[in-house]
Amino acid sequence: MVIVGNWKMNKIVSESVKLATELVAAASSIQNVVFAIAPSYLALAKVSDVVKGTNVKLAAQDVHWENQGAFTGKVSADMLKDVGVEFVIIGHSEQRTYFGETDLSVNKKVKKVLSLEMTPIICVGETIAERKAGQLELVLSAQITGAYAGLSGDEAQRTVVAYEPVWAIGTGVTATDDEAQQAHQFVRSMIAKLYGDSTAQSISIQYGGSMKPDNAAGLVAQKDIDGGLIGGAALQVDSFLGILNAAEMRRQ
Ligand code: PEP
Repeated sequence: MVIVGNWKMNKIVSESVKLATELVAAASSIQNVVFAIAPSYLALAKVSDVVKGTNVKLAAQDVHWENQGAFTGKVSADMLKDVGVEFVIIGHSEQRTYFGETDLSVNKKVKKVLSLEMTPIICVGETIAERKAGQLELVLSAQITGAYAGLSGDEAQRTVVAYEPVWAIGTGVTATDDEAQQAHQFVRSMIAKLYGDSTAQSISIQYGGSMKPDNAAGLVAQKDIDGGLIGGAALQVDSFLGILNAAEMRRQ
């Protein structure tokens, strides 16, 4: 089980430190779940000091694929690694929708992050129009094929996928357990096609999209759901902890 809280563009540095400090105290007994928080770039260094030596890991919300140089506004993988980041969210639907992220840029970022021994969380998911048009599998297979282009089996094994139906992100509408399971099963079958069954079984596939304490248990009970990428519910300790507890109690 891998649960990651994506704080998006929320909380100034002092608020981020406060939330991280509260989470460290509240989640100290979580043992069976790998979990991380992704504050803004600006808060990463301070939050890193708070979570160091605890069971809370650090994640970033994006990265650039180049090492350094004239890329105004961007942050490199080395910079993230240097402050203790272990997971990097790549290809979030908000990046794809608002900031021109493509399967090609996702692929470059994934390779860069893997080269520095961090774990990319590769986000995929369909819009409501695509789902209604019967294009769920078409969209997912294009996104997965694009993200993994040129990756070896060993590299693929070090990735995490987040299936996030775009229509469920930040909307309060969650995919049903069955809808989510079907999509996860399809993603796993795609990975199996590319890298074989054992790699497909070993990769964690998170669900994301209005996951909350009251729907988390049903989702993480599904065979192919191995965790969650959490937006809104990660912004308060109680709701994030509720999800962590649901994951903690799931079959191991
Ligand atoms: C997300 O942004 O990845 C997400 C799942 O958001 P929310 O939980 O708010 O739907």
